[in-house]
Amino acid sequence: MRLREAARRLEGAADAAKRGDGNRDEIDLALADAVGAQRALYGPRPRAKKGEGALHKLRDYLLARVGEGVSSEELRFASGIQESARRIRELRVEHGYDITESGDMYRLESATPNAERAARWKRLNRIRRTKTSGFRRLQMMFEEFVGEVVDGETIQYVAKIPSAARRVRELRDEHGWPVNSKVDEEDLGIGEYRLVSMDLADRLDIRQRLYEEGVREKVFKRDNYTCQVCGRNRETAQKAGDTRFYLEIHHKSAVAEQLDALPASELNKPENLITLCHSDHLKETAKLQKRLQAERRAR
Ligand SMILES: [Zn+2]
Repeated sequence: MRLREAARRLEGAADAAKRGDGNRDEIDLALADAVGAQRALYGPRPRAKKGEGALHKLRDYLLARVGEGVSSEELRFASGIQESARRIRELRVEHGYDITESGDMYRLESATPNAERAARWKRLNRIRRTKTSGFRRLQMMFEEFVGEVVDGETIQYVAKIPSAARRVRELRDEHGWPVNSKVDEEDLGIGEYRLVSMDLADRLDIRQRLYEEGVREKVFKRDNYTCQVCGRNRETAQKAGDTRFYLEIHHKSAVAEQLDALPASELNKPENLITLCHSDHLKETAKLQKRLQAERRAR
């Protein structure tokens, strides 16, 4: 029988390897023989059915080799599918397995999947399947993960719209949601965002949408990412236990009623802008409102 012949050949190659005069090509030929014998016995491999079969074979193969490096070629043999990268990702993200990757090698670090990661994935998918607009799905995602960092890939996956990153900026600049990006939080990577709070009182001043691209960043940088009233920055605030600290831009000489009258270019000159933390910004705004009311009454 051809399969037995291939096995004998492989055994011979193993003996040779043991003696120290092995030959890699000899193993390749034995393996090729085995694949040919498999085909002769069972016919061509049926097209892999959608999903489960290959995924389970892949998982079982890795589970039998926890902590060992496994090549994509091995996985190809083990699962019977050509491209295992997507399935590996599925095991990792959806099922919570800790699989590390380096070059062409994969390694399952632990037999126990990470339940937290799998649960997060379930929550994301529930939102992804919700039949509504992509922009609404984006909002639902931030609501669900308030305070947590979400990356660009996740945002794209859940929103299912082409310009998801632009819509996130829209959520912040036009709807005032306090969504931090790399500009506001140095710890965040490119494409990562974090909704700081769902509290309506924490919505940003709608006037922020008047800023030109990059002005916020310029002012934050100039002020060293530090509130110019209380002197706190993100790091010192966090150390003091304030997890809702974030920076905003305040108009030094802005009077609410001027907003419509003055061109945005005048109002939003960097010289007229200053970095404040959210709570000091609220105080400044309240002060301004009080002054305006007093002036109105005096008239
Ligand atoms: Zn402050």
